[in-house]
Amino acid sequence: MESEDVNQLKRTLEAYEKLSDLSHRELIEANRLISAHEEVEKLSREELLRLHDQVRELETEKATLESKIRSVLHEDPANELHILNELEEIRKNSDTGFFINLFRVLLHHEFEANEAMHHWSEILKHCESLSRALGRAIGFRVAMMDYFINLNRLLKSPVILEISLYDEMVKNSLMDELTNVYNRRYFDRCLIREFNRARRHSHDLSIAVLDIDNFKQFNDVYGHAVGDEVLRTFSAQLRTAFRTEDIVCRYGGEEFVIVLPQTNSRNALLVVDRFLEDVRKLNFFAGAITASGGVSGFPEHASEAKELFRMADKAMFVAKNSGKNRVILADEVKE
Ligand code: GH3
Ligand code: MG
Ligand code: MG
Repeated sequence: MESEDVNQLKRTLEAYEKLSDLSHRELIEANRLISAHEEVEKLSREELLRLHDQVRELETEKATLESKIRSVLHEDPANELHILNELEEIRKNSDTGFFINLFRVLLHHEFEANEAMHHWSEILKHCESLSRALGRAIGFRVAMMDYFINLNRLLKSPVILEISLYDEMVKNSLMDELTNVYNRRYFDRCLIREFNRARRHSHDLSIAVLDIDNFKQFNDVYGHAVGDEVLRTFSAQLRTAFRTEDIVCRYGGEEFVIVLPQTNSRNALLVVDRFLEDVRKLNFFAGAITASGGVSGFPEHASEAKELFRMADKAMFVAKNSGKNRVILADEVKE
């Protein structure tokens, strides 16, 4: 055996390991192959190359299975039946590596092939019996958590399933579909979170409420589809005008709220003012649009989250009542 070759192969494998491209099990297997050859100490160049190929094949197989499973889970995260059918299709066309990959994706956990296969079939059974017992369809991810936490007790604290998928589901329920900014549900949570944070660290916090002017009339004249396009463009402009740490939300209809952490209300006012200038310049074939806004800040205008929103909202109404197309600071609100 050419020890230089073996060392070379070892270095390659170490590099693979560092990149986490091979799973633990596959590495052990590859290392076992090398040790076996080392013992024989007669490894020809061809054999060495074949070994390289074998390792690479393992790697590719893992990557494709894993990515197939991932893409099924991402296609339509809420459609359980679709996911299960597609997974079954992949399973039919692969070996027991499928189950290992499935749990790697879902749970970030490495099982042995047989173990993984056993758990999967138990989870599917558990899913059915849970659904029967509760009289409604229970998702396999819920069944899986219940299986590992309560039935099998194999995992002490399973990591949440497939983090990125979970993130996606959460994201979908928190984003506004039409405009792709956060929705009201997210705003409610985020306002409280940011308010508590500001109070805890004695930071400034501002919010801005914006409402498009005469939008009903705009819709009536140009139609709902053009109205929708205006909402999309307006939102895109909002995202550009504010910093990435500012949180842009569609509160409802043609009303938006922006949360500006670590920003005092005077500075927030300047940003909103500049944004309203941008809006005036937006070119819609149907003509220009304008918006009115109100800005309030913690600690200067409010001592709790709801009040902060109420003050900005009131300021926005002052802007509407004094001719629209402007932004007003909560200082000008008379309680
Ligand atoms: P003001 O200047 O006082 O704000 O008047 P306005 O007409 O903008 O306000 P109003 O509350 O009377 O009307 C809001 C309109 O926004 C009514 C509704 O048809 C429209 N709207 C709400 N949501 C959507 C939407 O998703 N798409 C479209 N195209 N229009 C929407
Ligand atoms: Mg309006
Ligand atoms: Mg409105």
